[in-house]
Amino acid sequence: MIDIGLNLTEDQFAGKEKDVLARALEAGVQKMILTGGNITGSQRALEMAKRHPNVLYTTAGIHPHDAKSVNAQTGDLLRALYEDEQVIAVGECGLDFDRNYSEPKDQYAAFDLQLSIAEENDLPIFLHERAAHQQFIDVMKAHPTLIERSVVHCFTGDRTQLKAYLDLGFHIGVTGWVCDPKRGVDLREALLDMPLDRLMIETDAPYLIPKNIRPKPKSRTNEPKYLPHIGREIAQIMRVEEALFFNEVEKNTRRFFRI
Ligand SMILES: [Zn+2]
Repeated sequence: MIDIGLNLTEDQFAGKEKDVLARALEAGVQKMILTGGNITGSQRALEMAKRHPNVLYTTAGIHPHDAKSVNAQTGDLLRALYEDEQVIAVGECGLDFDRNYSEPKDQYAAFDLQLSIAEENDLPIFLHERAAHQQFIDVMKAHPTLIERSVVHCFTGDRTQLKAYLDLGFHIGVTGWVCDPKRGVDLREALLDMPLDRLMIETDAPYLIPKNIRPKPKSRTNEPKYLPHIGREIAQIMRVEEALFFNEVEKNTRRFFRI
């Protein structure tokens, strides 16, 4: 199993890196892709990945929340990161109009910059979209060749939004959001239409701990070891036999991220 999105450099995991990874490996999660959300975060993620070759990889990018941090050096700092072979994707990048921590105009600029770097470098793209479905599609439609190597991570939308993304050619990342019977209701319904060959799975740890783990864990901190739980939930919704499900999803992930 491969967790395509987690944030191991967050404070919740400080000093616990080895234990968290040991528990993940024991649960059958052999590889994990850290998410880079700004320059320092991406650099720290790469330092951590370097300590665990063949297990950890990372993306490098600017999250829409951090779009205001982009300056004249950002492009070159990102390009330097992509030279390392453990940095395997651009992102996370995209649009988030839910809280507008960065102004929409800065978000568009940061997004454009990263799409052009992805174009130059022939890299896959790890995308974030929240409360910006149509605007996000409008941007990406101008880059059809990039869409084929783009994954919309932590998809939480409904059936119509999923269909729009699939029709354009995106891959889809699903987190433990799906394990929440209340918040996840639209997503669970949407997954009935999900083709197995475009799906990847992720924990987004330490966030989004699956709500239906029993017995309920004492800690609210999500960990990559819960990836199998998320996968089993999705397999059940999609009515796919578990072994086949995990096999196909891993194949997609290896092909998509070239690992
Ligand atoms: Zn995200």
